Formats: sequence, C-alpha cells, structure tokens
Amino acid sequence: MIEQDQIEAQERSDPLARKRHEFDLPANTVYLDGNSLGCLPIAARERAREVVETQWGRDLIKSWNKHNWIDLPVQIGEKIARLIGAAPGQTICCDSTSVNLFKLLSVALKMQSERCIILSVQDNFPSDLYMLEGLRHQLGSDAVQIKLCAEEEIESAMHEKVAVLMLTQVNFRTGRLLDMQRLTERAHALGILVIWDLAHSAGVLPIELDGCHVDFAVGCGYKYLNGGPGAPAFAYVAKRHHQHLHQPLSGWMGHAAPFEFDAQYAPAKNITQLLVGTPPVISMSVLDAALEVYRDVDIKQLRDKAYGLSELFRTLVEQSPYLRDLQLLSPPQPQQRGAQLAYRHPEAYAICQALIDHGVVADFRAPDLLRLGFSPLPLRYIDISTSVTVLTEIMRNERWREPQYATRSKVT
Ligand SMILES: *Cc1c(COP(=O)(O)O)cnc(C)c1O
Repeated sequence: MIEQDQIEAQERSDPLARKRHEFDLPANTVYLDGNSLGCLPIAARERAREVVETQWGRDLIKSWNKHNWIDLPVQIGEKIARLIGAAPGQTICCDSTSVNLFKLLSVALKMQSERCIILSVQDNFPSDLYMLEGLRHQLGSDAVQIKLCAEEEIESAMHEKVAVLMLTQVNFRTGRLLDMQRLTERAHALGILVIWDLAHSAGVLPIELDGCHVDFAVGCGYKYLNGGPGAPAFAYVAKRHHQHLHQPLSGWMGHAAPFEFDAQYAPAKNITQLLVGTPPVISMSVLDAALEVYRDVDIKQLRDKAYGLSELFRTLVEQSPYLRDLQLLSPPQPQQRGAQLAYRHPEAYAICQALIDHGVVADFRAPDLLRLGFSPLPLRYIDISTSVTVLTEIMRNERWREPQYATRSKVT
C-alpha cells in the first residue's frame, strides 16, 4: 500500500522538481497530456512575444540575418540531436513528422534498388501508415509493397526482400517500447534500412541513434519537446547516407546555394537538403526557446521520473477497489514502455470527459482507451495522487454517466 507520506518523500527527493517552475501551467489542473501537446515553457512564451513584436514588427526582413532566422532549422536540429544521441550534422528541424517520413522513405527506397517491400506494424500511428499508402499510390505497387505485422512478429517478418523497416519506438496507444538496438541490428544483418519514429520517445527517454547505427529517424516537436501546437518536426539521416541523399521534395531551401537563384536544382550534400520551403520562423523560434528547458537536464533522470510517475499512477489504480474495471493495456514493467499508460474501458470516452471537467486532463483514443501521459518536467508526484483521487471519485459516483460527457468533439 502506498501512503501519502511516501509520495511526499518522493516529491522532496525529486532532482527535477526545480524544472516545474520553468513552465506556465494552468491553475487547479493536473495535465496528463504532455505526450500529445506539451505544456508552455515560460521561455517559449517570452520568445513568441519577442519574435512577433521586435523581430518581425521592428526589424522585419533584416531579421533573416540579424536574428539568424535562416539558421533556425540547423540550430534546433542540433539541440534535438543531443536528446536523441546524434553527433552534429545529422539532425534538422522542418515540416511535420508525416512529411519528413515521406522524404526519408523515398530516400531509403531509392537506395534499395533491388527491393520494394516496406515493413511496418499494424498498430503504428495511422499517419505513418497513410504516408506509406501515399508513396505506393505515387510510385505504383510494383515499386512499393507494404507489409504490416504485429509488434511481436517484427523479427520473424524480416527477410532479404524487405527494403525498409519503419517503426515507432513507443507505441502511441499502448506505450510499448521497442528494442531499437536489437531490431536495427537484425534488420541490418538482412540488408534492410531502418526508419525510427521517435514521436513518443524524444525528450523523455535516452535514445542512441548513432550508437544503434540507425539509418533514419523522424520525430515530433509538440509532444515532450513542448514546442507548441503544430510545432515543426525533426529528421535525422546518418552521415554515412548523406552521399545517397536525394529527397523528392526538391524545394529551394534544400538547394546547395538557394540564394544564387539558379534555374537548376543542385541538392545540398548535407542534412539541409531535407529542407523544402521557407521555415515557419514563429513556430521554430518558439520550439527553439522551449528546448532551452532541456539545457541542464540529464535524460536518464527524465526517464527515471517518467517511470516513477507512471508506476505511482499504476500502483494507486491497482490499489483502488473502485478502479477494477480499468484494464491496463500497457506493459506492466516500466522498462518496457515509454512515459504513458493506457487503460481499456467501454466508457473510456465519457470517463475521460468527466476527468477533464474535474481538472485532470487525459485523452481518449478510439475505440475504448483512456490514455495518460507522464511528462516528467512539469509534473509532480503529488499531482499523480490527486489525479487518481479524482478518477476514483468519478468511478465511485459514476459521474461519467452525466449526459454532457457523452457528446464527442471533433478532436479527441
Ligand atoms: C504524433 C505523431 C505523429 C504526428 O505527425 P505530424 O505529421 O507531425 O502530425 C506522427 N507519428 C507518430 C508515431 C506520432 O505519435
């Protein structure tokens, strides 16, 4: 049985507790959705004001040089590189995760001229799979064949005709963590190139892209990286592949010399070739400032706290007689998951709405999942006990049955 004083002791010995003050958090809210849209860092709020009022408002076009707008994609890429175990020169910030996947899938397929199968898992994030379908539609089913398997079958589904293995490190529904090192090694032994999607792992788990010899990776700027709604994403290409880099969206920002305005495209021979059009300066500046929160953070401490928070939640739920109907879908061992938990319940939607209404923000994933994210920087251990108390109260009194919790909004 976990007691309140144990939780308070955990709170006092938390080495990351000081970081909470770097966020602008709403009052009376426990936010368990940092895995979907990260909280607002104060530095990001200040930068938004400065970039709009001063840089855009006063310095106008001079800002491209004066405030280094043009370098933002590379500068942010390098800040993210530190979080994902990438040496300099291999990571860039641009576009959305989906668009970056399209570029990298195209590059990888082209490098595998004799192979056309792309292997992924059935319950990957749908947009990742939709991008595969789009590529197949574009290139034809002779050039692209899609094979989807269950997460447990990835190793046995690999063979020597597979061109590319596209995986998400942490499953967006269940939170299950895949073994990057082992799967990448297995794929390489069969001549398969690997693309990892780090949407639910970057900024919360230690990642060793270089150490695992990963070929390509993409990830998201608005989840654990706290870059704000629709923040630009990132892409990684291992240096050894830069000589083969020839991505299809050949816009001017990926040109070797964009300001020569040459009529012919000459691709940059480095990671900047992944750029397409003009960078979204306002969103990039905000993400750039948000990443400063990580400047003095040890990523292993982030993971340990994420596990501490989610284990506390899981144990408190297990202890409560009113929460027996919530069925844990995530792996029970913290080492086997990212920073989230998912519970199955036929009334998950209404329960989630009632939770939000009572100050605990979680999310719902169709058809029957209540999903909770444990972002280690803004959250305290005592927030976890508060959230389980609220959840218990909603279940015990069946508050979720109130009719206002049944109507669905467009975004869930
Ligand atoms: C959130 C998420 C995305 C988001 O893609 P966008 O194109 O940036 O909207 C992609 N893949 C996974 C696995 C995600 O969790």
